[in-house]
Amino acid sequence: MNRYKADLHIHTVLSPCANIEMSPVNIVKRALMKGLNIIGITDHNSTLQCATVKELAAPHGIMVLCGAEVTSKEEIHCLAFFEDDESLAEFQKYLMLHQLKQPNTNNSFGYQVVVDKDNNITAEIDNYLGMAMDVGYLQIQEIVHQLNGLFIPAHIDRVRFSLMSQLGFVPNDINADALEIFNRTSISRFMKENGYLTHYTFIRNSDAHHLDDIGQYYSWFIMNELSFSEIRMALKYKNGRLVTID
Ligand SMILES: [Zn+2]
Ligand SMILES: [Zn+2]
Repeated sequence: MNRYKADLHIHTVLSPCANIEMSPVNIVKRALMKGLNIIGITDHNSTLQCATVKELAAPHGIMVLCGAEVTSKEEIHCLAFFEDDESLAEFQKYLMLHQLKQPNTNNSFGYQVVVDKDNNITAEIDNYLGMAMDVGYLQIQEIVHQLNGLFIPAHIDRVRFSLMSQLGFVPNDINADALEIFNRTSISRFMKENGYLTHYTFIRNSDAHHLDDIGQYYSWFIMNELSFSEIRMALKYKNGRLVTID
């Protein structure tokens, strides 16, 4: 069994709130510097920057989990990850269909650009990606699972845009593959206060919006090799695989 360092919550230049320095090439360079083996690309409501990061990371042996950070109707942020390009493309269609429309006129909410491996802008997204979907978190969970993806509510104890900020608790009808704890929360204190969540697997990530954030917070995946199915097993604590956070 091997130990892999993972930061599964990283925004790129495509997210309006992320710094313009968050280009695929810079993200991969920083991930290498920080000794990360797995990175998750999770732009707000879009998956369009993942492929380039994946292409740049592959020669360095870094695995890229492609997905998005989706804002549900209840304004709950949820991470979603997919194994193959087809599922990712299907989910991208779903996001574009269900996102509420608000133009990002004159980049008033920030830049939303897709760039290639040489930092050339290849697309600019007009609709503000910070808007919510017209579907709830349970519907998002359902489509993610239909596409064989992983559904992980983000920073669940953060004071904004989280399960606990919006609902006050983690509902027991949720079927999440893991829960992400807010990056700076003490897990032992949190579990003392929230004993009803002990059966969940928790992950911790940076939620990076700046290069310096990448790898500042992370999780360890103990598993056989770098693959989506091993990650799925680790999240379920199956066959000796597991996830640990500090
Ligand atoms: Zn978030
Ligand atoms: Zn985020």
